[in-house]
Amino acid sequence: MSLTAGVVAVQGDVEEHATAIERAVSAHGREVTVHEIRESGVVPECDLLAMPGGESTTISRFVHSEGIAPELRDHVAANKPLFVTCAGLIVASSDANDDRVEELGLVDVTIERNAFGRQKDSFEAPLAVDGLADDEPYPAVFIRAPAIDDVGETVEVLASWDGRPVAVRDGPVVATAFHPELTPDSRIHELAFFENEDASVPTLTEST
Ligand code: GLN
Repeated sequence: MSLTAGVVAVQGDVEEHATAIERAVSAHGREVTVHEIRESGVVPECDLLAMPGGESTTISRFVHSEGIAPELRDHVAANKPLFVTCAGLIVASSDANDDRVEELGLVDVTIERNAFGRQKDSFEAPLAVDGLADDEPYPAVFIRAPAIDDVGETVEVLASWDGRPVAVRDGPVVATAFHPELTPDSRIHELAFFENEDASVPTLTEST
C-alpha cells in the first residue's frame, strides 16, 4: 500500500519537505503520494504530516482560519506521525511566548523565538541526535531558529545545541528548531516517520 503524506503549505520549504519525505519513505521500501495542504479536508487522508518553517505568526493564522488546526490535533490524537520544523515547532508548541501565535499544544514545550539570532546569524552545526540510524553527526541548518526553554514530562530531548534542546519528541510528534529538509540527509525525516516508536505509520501487513 502506498502511503499518503501531507505538507502544510502556507509558506516555507514545502517542496523540500515533500522531497525529503519521498526520500525517507523510499529508504524504507515504501511509496508515497505527497499532498500540499492549503485547506481543510486533506489532513484526514494523510498517514503522516510535516509542518515547515517560515513565519510562525503567519502559519498560526493560516491553520486556524482554514480549519486545519483541529485536523492536526485529530491526526496527533490518532497517534499518526507529525514532523514540525522551526516555525512549525513554534506553532505546534504549548507556549510560544508571543501573543500573535495561537499554539496548537501538540508538543509540550515552551519556546523562545529567534533565540539563535537573526537571518544573518544563520549557521550549520554538526549535531548529535538520539535515535538516528547511525552515529554520524547531523548537519543541522539553523535559520532564525527558536530555542526550547522548558519541556513537559512527555517530552524526550533528542538533541541540544549550546545547552538548549533543539530536537524533541512528544509521542507521535517530532520537532526540530533547525531545517532537516534543507540537506540531502533524510535521517531525521526517517526518525520522525519510521523510527518513532510512539507513532504509528500503517504497515503493509495492516493494510493487506
Ligand atoms: N523566526 C521565525 C519565527 O519565529 C522562524 C524561522 C524559521 O522557520 N526558519 O516564526
